[in-house]
Amino acid sequence: MSDENAVHKGTCYCGAVTVTVKGPPAAAGYCHCLECRKWHSAPINAFGIWPADNVTIEGPTTTSTVSEVSGRVSCSKCGGCLVNLKPTMGMTAVYPMTLAGPEGTFKFEPAFHIFYEERVMDVSDGLPKFVDVPEQFGGSGKTVEESGSSGWH
Ligand SMILES: [Zn+2]
Ligand SMILES: [Zn+2]
Repeated sequence: MSDENAVHKGTCYCGAVTVTVKGPPAAAGYCHCLECRKWHSAPINAFGIWPADNVTIEGPTTTSTVSEVSGRVSCSKCGGCLVNLKPTMGMTAVYPMTLAGPEGTFKFEPAFHIFYEERVMDVSDGLPKFVDVPEQFGGSGKTVEESGSSGWH
């Protein structure tokens, strides 16, 4: 992982909102949960999770609090998904593709899959696949076997 004081910046699709993260994420991976799939309208969502104090958001945003454990923040101009506030954990999940791009310096290094049992798509990348989330994040820590081939579940 990158060094402790590295600062990475990224923007939404239209560029009106800037997201800045400091230091490496506490964890990074892929989420297969229904909430992520609906919010992003995508089969799988990439995430990096940082201590909330290490994430700065500047620009016009809208926060959706459909569930009390998450605040999904999007750009008010383009609607681009930016971060997911996790106030009960004191963490902020940043969608790392916001930080990627031609001038992006953040290197996304996924370590595992979460909520894999809810998946609509199999992935065979050799990474651990958790039924919910790892124990250190309050989950069961149980994992699911890989099917051996990628594709729709
Ligand atoms: Zn935007
Ligand atoms: Zn999710």
